[in-house]
Amino acid sequence: MMNATTASTQQRPLLQAHGLVKTYLAHGVQQSVLSGLDLTLEAGEIVVLQGPSGEGKSTLLNLLAGLDRPDAGEIWLKGEDLAQAAEARLCQLRRQSIGLVFQFFNLVPTLTVTENLQLTLSLCQRVTHQAEIATLLAQVGLTGKAAMFPQQLSGGEQQRVAIVRTLLQQPALILADEPTGNLDRNNAERVMALFVEQVRQRQGTLLLATHDVSLTALADRCLRLENGRLRDD
Ligand code: ADP
Ligand code: MG
Repeated sequence: MMNATTASTQQRPLLQAHGLVKTYLAHGVQQSVLSGLDLTLEAGEIVVLQGPSGEGKSTLLNLLAGLDRPDAGEIWLKGEDLAQAAEARLCQLRRQSIGLVFQFFNLVPTLTVTENLQLTLSLCQRVTHQAEIATLLAQVGLTGKAAMFPQQLSGGEQQRVAIVRTLLQQPALILADEPTGNLDRNNAERVMALFVEQVRQRQGTLLLATHDVSLTALADRCLRLENGRLRDD
């Protein structure tokens, strides 16, 4: 017979956030951004987070990434509450369990494509063979660009490097904040289709914030941020 502990471990979602509250104080005025938000992500899900600019998508992602803390609420990732975790532990989780993709690609300009990827791997303490890097670069159409510097690449190519970096990290949870916001429409669609395909192949979990409605077709589920809470779309 399976005991209660085994059963709950097997069924627990990858991420569960309860009652998240976040208020900013700017120029003496309090602005409530998240007001008791709940979110559950199952392992292997690809979820799009929509909502107009200024609604709080980045605020939510920053909390889930452990880059900022909620005023109230819990964020359980693999059995650990990020809202209560020590700063050193959050730093470790960001290197090992949480992958981030931003609108600006955050590549180190003085390092080549390969060196950027190797830097990330050494930070998250993953041993990776050159062959794995080469395979991934080929899968996103960047063969031949490995020795180039970020500024020698187009925006779409730089974002593909940033995506490879996140995939190499093999994080339990990938958070992407308007990753195509800086790309033209054609490039945005191509890069995101590639990204989602690679995440699916690896059975990764992705929460993708965007106001680009065309990306919803790629997702298992769409959520909308409205008045500080989420609703299914
Ligand atoms: P979105 O990503 O959906 O565009 P954000 O999460 O960036 O929205 O912002 C939500 C609201 O919170 C905005 O009104 C923004 O001005 C405000 N905000 C975000 N970060 C801060 C901050 N550090 N200090 C004060 N206000 C902030
Ligand atoms: Mg934002």
